[in-house]
Amino acid sequence: MDVFTSAAELLRDRHPERPVLALRPHAAQRAARWFLANFPGRVLYAAKANDAPQVIEALVEAGITAFDVASLVEIERVAPIQGAELYFMNPIKSRGAIVRAYRDFGVRHFAFDSEEELEKIVEETGGAADLTLFLRIACPNTHSLIPLEGKFGVPPDEAPALLLRARQIARRLGITFHVGSQAVVPVAFGEALKQVGQLIVESGVLVDAIDIGGGFPSRYPHSNPPELASFLDEVVRAADELAVRHSCELLCEPGRALVAEAESVIVRVDARRGNALYINDGAFGTLFDAAYSGFRFPARLVTGARRKSKPLTEFALYGPTCDSSDHLPGPFLLPDSIREGDYLEIGQIGAYGRVLANRFNGFGEYDEVILTDEPMLSMYIGVEQQTPVLASMPA
Ligand SMILES: *Cc1c(COP(=O)(O)O)cnc(C)c1O
Repeated sequence: MDVFTSAAELLRDRHPERPVLALRPHAAQRAARWFLANFPGRVLYAAKANDAPQVIEALVEAGITAFDVASLVEIERVAPIQGAELYFMNPIKSRGAIVRAYRDFGVRHFAFDSEEELEKIVEETGGAADLTLFLRIACPNTHSLIPLEGKFGVPPDEAPALLLRARQIARRLGITFHVGSQAVVPVAFGEALKQVGQLIVESGVLVDAIDIGGGFPSRYPHSNPPELASFLDEVVRAADELAVRHSCELLCEPGRALVAEAESVIVRVDARRGNALYINDGAFGTLFDAAYSGFRFPARLVTGARRKSKPLTEFALYGPTCDSSDHLPGPFLLPDSIREGDYLEIGQIGAYGRVLANRFNGFGEYDEVILTDEPMLSMYIGVEQQTPVLASMPA
């Protein structure tokens, strides 16, 4: 894959017809190093967030060896990685997927959130005695921009009995939750861990692991969360209050926070109508969250630098398909001099960008390059790689 020092260098003598996925593997590597240095437990990469081989390779080079996977395809993708440990954390799995995960890929870690799913796992693994089972509990998603609640998670009144039942089956037993994606305040994790503590007390069941899921935030023009260290401080504080803290492993499953900064998309303006720009990628491409989740991504004019006027103007964007929902309201701040034929870099699309792109209307094909410059926004630049002081959990 071609390497450039910046989007501007890429566009110096090329005019790509297709949108360009611009990877910054070094940003994924920096994020992974930060989590591995600062999280007092095991760090799993949530494999659904970005499937680019160069991104996964960067995470592995940084030291990531454990993966949260939700499907056989994700399992097949990461299983060949040397020393990979797979956690099949989708609370509802097909029988066929459980069989193949256990038998063909050596998966021993499974999540469940109902009696039926627990029995399914027991049956399809032939009553295996070497399972680590994680009970997924429902927890409020009120502190996150993309709530994931409602679909999964056992309600508090049913959790104690299910935990007790699983204790009789599992070699190792865990509790897991997900606070929702792009959690914007640390207390989201504290509140969920408090619920875990209540469940342990109420059920009288000891657990061996607590998996706090993903949800750690990245930085966007519409969301400027406190530093990641404050999230881990809150996790450690709340975990220290649990009765099981000395015998319990802590795990986390960041997706967004590891890969958001690792990709931009470089798009061309095919038309300007007032303050709306029609570009060659959109809601059915890498910019789904800008259309459907109220996200604003950072944008900058790459070509026509001599026309870079200030102050910046607010633009809305339209993607290339014929569907009127292919509309990204933004606003995106760009120079007023922008015109047809210009190229823009839209940053922070590394999480849930390329993986959501589809081929609607014949679009959805990209060129790919690597850029060596820094991402447009970052949670990690200028942050010290401190070692955890409060960590009391065994790794
Ligand atoms: C999606 C998902 C993650 C990753 O979430 P982020 O918000 O991207 O960190 C982690 N665990 C589970 C079970 C998930 O479904």
